[in-house]
Amino acid sequence: MANRFVFDFDEPTAGGRDLLGGKGIGLAEMTHMGVPVPAGFTITTDACRAYMDEGDLPDGLEREVDEHVARLEERTGKRFGSSDDPLLVSVRSGAAVSMPGMMDTILNLGLNDAAAEGLAARTDNARFAYDSYRRLIQMFGEVVDGIDAHRFESALSSLKGGRQDTDLTPEELRGLVETFKDIYRQETGSHFPADARDQLLRAVRAVFSSWDNPRAQVYRRAHGIPDVLGTAVNVVQMVFGNKGDRSGTGVAFTRDPSTGSSGLYGEFLADAQGEDVVAGIRTPQPIEAMRDSLPNAFGQLVQTMRRLEEHYRDMQDVEFTVEDERLYLLQTRSAKRTAAAALKAAVSMVEEGLITREEAVTRIDPAQLDQLLHPMIDPTATVEPAAKGLNASPGAASGGIVFDADTAVERARSGPVVLVRWETTPDDIHGMIAAEGILTVHGGMTSHAAVVARGMGKPCVAGCEELSLGDGTATIGGQELREGDVITIDGGTGRVFVGRVPLVPPRINDDFETVLVWADDQRRLKVRANADNPEDAARSREFGAQGIGLCRTEHMFFGDERLPVVQEMILADSERGRRSALDRLLPFQQSDFEGIFEAMAGLPVTIRLLDPPLHEFLPAEDEATDEKMRSRIRALRESNPMLGTRGCRVGLMFPEIYEMQIRAIARAARAVHERGGEPPLVEVMHPLVGFREELARLRELTESVWAEEAPELDHLVGTMIEVPRAALRADEISEVADFFSFGTNDLTQMTLAFSRDDAEGKFLTRYLEDGVLERNPFEVLDVEGVGDLMRIAVERGRGAKPNLKLGICGEHGGEPRSIAFCHDLGLDYVSCSPFRVPLARLAAAQAALKEAGSGSYVAAGG
Ligand code: PEP
Ligand code: MG
Repeated sequence: MANRFVFDFDEPTAGGRDLLGGKGIGLAEMTHMGVPVPAGFTITTDACRAYMDEGDLPDGLEREVDEHVARLEERTGKRFGSSDDPLLVSVRSGAAVSMPGMMDTILNLGLNDAAAEGLAARTDNARFAYDSYRRLIQMFGEVVDGIDAHRFESALSSLKGGRQDTDLTPEELRGLVETFKDIYRQETGSHFPADARDQLLRAVRAVFSSWDNPRAQVYRRAHGIPDVLGTAVNVVQMVFGNKGDRSGTGVAFTRDPSTGSSGLYGEFLADAQGEDVVAGIRTPQPIEAMRDSLPNAFGQLVQTMRRLEEHYRDMQDVEFTVEDERLYLLQTRSAKRTAAAALKAAVSMVEEGLITREEAVTRIDPAQLDQLLHPMIDPTATVEPAAKGLNASPGAASGGIVFDADTAVERARSGPVVLVRWETTPDDIHGMIAAEGILTVHGGMTSHAAVVARGMGKPCVAGCEELSLGDGTATIGGQELREGDVITIDGGTGRVFVGRVPLVPPRINDDFETVLVWADDQRRLKVRANADNPEDAARSREFGAQGIGLCRTEHMFFGDERLPVVQEMILADSERGRRSALDRLLPFQQSDFEGIFEAMAGLPVTIRLLDPPLHEFLPAEDEATDEKMRSRIRALRESNPMLGTRGCRVGLMFPEIYEMQIRAIARAARAVHERGGEPPLVEVMHPLVGFREELARLRELTESVWAEEAPELDHLVGTMIEVPRAALRADEISEVADFFSFGTNDLTQMTLAFSRDDAEGKFLTRYLEDGVLERNPFEVLDVEGVGDLMRIAVERGRGAKPNLKLGICGEHGGEPRSIAFCHDLGLDYVSCSPFRVPLARLAAAQAALKEAGSGSYVAAGG
């Protein structure tokens, strides 16, 4: 049927996740499986998009909602708006991509004074009826009318006066309802709406609008979720966890979301409703506690979770409610999990026969692997934690303390910060993004801070009750700390330290290694590393690099012993003077190359000759010590140094510099070979070439030096493709090149005319905020523009020379989406920083599996 906006959970699901949202599709699928789910219906994302376009609910939607409410009444035998036995519903947001806590939910819609009275009489439980009613007024007031939550919370806490919310008497709750209605009237100037239909339609509008609230926008930007998707809305019959001891609510995972270990994991709160668990109203119990208090519901939960994992063939997390010992599931989705948990779960599921190795490879989000590649606290350091909380999201982080999200953003510009909060709320999202790590006093493993930090791969220690917060101070272990004081947190163990603690680089564990080996079986792209010294080279091999794709030799020109000689070379008036300095640099370069060749033991090593403009090796003019230096600095000054005398232009102006470098490379290769080492496969790479003639001349220089120094050793000569002209004239350039390596940092800079050094600080951040651009092109390859130039270069280059070797060594070589593009383009390899090598291995495998039709997997959607 055209233009249909509403589907019952038990109707055939048309349109899937994109249309029904993650929550809607989960509820529909569970309904079809016969899992106990309350009745209800989903209003589609189409309706949300129409609402955003038109500014109001689209034509026909109200009528459809009425029809589906009528069906719900028939099904439940209750009437919406009735004062005798009222049907109550919740309205829950649910986008196609999971955005935990970003949008809004309202519970208990359908209550008013008379209905609350009726509900109290029907259930013989006035406490429950008025507790539900006060929650409705509060949530409705906050979500629909934007009333500050503190208005309601402070009324509630002054009534409690230190008691638990469950200790309030029915009379007190009835009084609280009156107080809340007064607050509502004061804040909005009108009475709380008593009409159930009116409540429902206003709630639907508010949830649609919440798609565009600032925190949801920030979250989408951080996770690369398009703004146009919109959210679905689920209208669900209420089931009540706040009916007393035989009721409750909780969240559960089919496996431990921190470690991936098998076995039910989660938290449960007796006599509570919906959001209480996440909001940290009372500290929840571990799920195991349900085994004694509610054995039947617990048994049913265990069995249902097993079924769900088998059905989805993936780790699930669910929200559930128990009403008078009856279990209901309110949501299921692929569980948000740490990278370690994702790997362990994937490996176990292969062992259990639940999924194949190929599927296991597609189940891991490559970007998330970064988490495991975070520094850890040095296990050999003797350090005493000042406090301990929950190990909510792994990795260690040090930074200055900040107490609110805005300050986190502000101070993060000048150094790492750790965000310290009583607990986080969705409004803190920008601060969480800016911080290196998050520490909260309150809240469990499923609290907002824990869930969001795990999703972002940020270290987080939650529920650190030993920490107390004052006005602009934090006290840990008897020490009072202020904003800016440094602490270290270890999200893997929950420890908190005062000051900076030594960190060590991460290691790849067995599960990680297993998945990577499976990935290696699938991928076609080779993965190399960008490394400039033997340590990085050795580390990159540990991570599985198959060679070095970029060794930037200018890094070898710095260092106390070398820089003065480099400066002497730059200041020399004659070629003779330059050669004399270069002769002294040569042994340094040679020994660096020997170290790298030895570490790479016969694998290919691409060495790029000097690239930056020479002024980068001289001090600023006002720091220069003598007049000669100052005048040289002035002579080298250029208005656009990035478009100036750099790259191969330096090599052609001062051939003796490149000659020394080539000689050092050839001698190093020979020395390693003569010592019995595997001869390296050396690839000499010339930067910033735009014309065939540039490379032709430099090739001649390379060959003649090589013939003098190491005639018996193989080598290749090639160029970076980082000037648009080089991409366009790739056919003729390939005549004198054995390989191309795309330098997409410069190619992006030159294609977009965005300065690599300035754009982010000047206009690019604003472009991203305003949505002029969806992604930072220095992070994620601009496939349409820069990518098209690459495609032209590949076609023209390989057209002229079919065996031309092709790679990428710009930053994009370590970014999953860009890697997928490089796979599609038919490159031979990607090269990235050593820590990104594992991620690139996985991303390359996923690209190959996608091409083979194994599809892509949306991790943790819901
Ligand atoms: C590039 O431009 O992409 C590149 C790898 O070179 P560099 O970053 O050293 O300019
Ligand atoms: Mg470059």
